[in-house]
Amino acid sequence: MRLGAQMSTAGGTYTAFKRGEEAGCETMLIFTKSNRQWQAKPLTDKDVSQFKEAAEEYSHIHPVAVHASYLINVASPDEALWEKSYEALKIEVERCGQLSIPLITFHPGSYVDSSEEAGLHNIMRALKRLLEETEESAPGVTICLETMAGQGTNLGRTFEQLAQVLDGAGPDERLGVCFDTCHVFSAGYDIRTPEAYAATMKEFDKVIGLERVKFFHFNDSKYDLGENKDRHEHIGRGFIGEEGFANFVNDSRWAGHAAHLETPKTEKDEDGNEIDMDQVNLEKLRSLVKK
Ligand SMILES: [Zn+2]
Repeated sequence: MRLGAQMSTAGGTYTAFKRGEEAGCETMLIFTKSNRQWQAKPLTDKDVSQFKEAAEEYSHIHPVAVHASYLINVASPDEALWEKSYEALKIEVERCGQLSIPLITFHPGSYVDSSEEAGLHNIMRALKRLLEETEESAPGVTICLETMAGQGTNLGRTFEQLAQVLDGAGPDERLGVCFDTCHVFSAGYDIRTPEAYAATMKEFDKVIGLERVKFFHFNDSKYDLGENKDRHEHIGRGFIGEEGFANFVNDSRWAGHAAHLETPKTEKDEDGNEIDMDQVNLEKLRSLVKK
């Protein structure tokens, strides 16, 4: 697998490559705009050319993937918020097109005070329109629904929910799934032992199809199986544990697939020095690969 982490773009989108290199990334996950604001300044020609130059200079760091803003909720029953979310998601996909970034993931959203069915229908409606409206501006961009932990009314907790949206919005080559280990585990799918992992993958294949998995978020979990809480922990230090991640990195079906850490960035050692935890977590993952 290609292993990497979420990288800051402070100072310009292109600057993430240098940080990725320092952390030991073979691939990386970025935000192309502030993840907690609706507004995004349009990319200038200079932004685009700087990013493309950096992508060439650091061509060993690939693929780059984007995480869409956390504010987006295309499951929302509030039509105004739905429209705002849809437009924001569309802009994010178009930015990927401009930057030649092949993958984007977004959180399916929350149905709030409506129903699961209504929420799933709204996501489907957004994806159908998105596929149509970005067919020319972002033809090479695969749009991925992220697997979710199932906090509150968050959708994407079960493989069935994801399948329903994918089937309803597709079939389309440009639709996929981003598999987050912490979220899937917290949603109740066990991946800790080879047997449990095999059963979960079999279930995913039956319900969604493994070919829909386009990339991964590798996070351990601060909470136990089925607790529906989205709290990321360093690799091997949470309830998933090292063996859980060994199942993924040694699965030949994922050879060449990208996986990104979204775990805390730093930690202090005994002397108060800052440790780059991405380096530590990446080394840990690499040590789990069987020779
Ligand atoms: Zn996410």
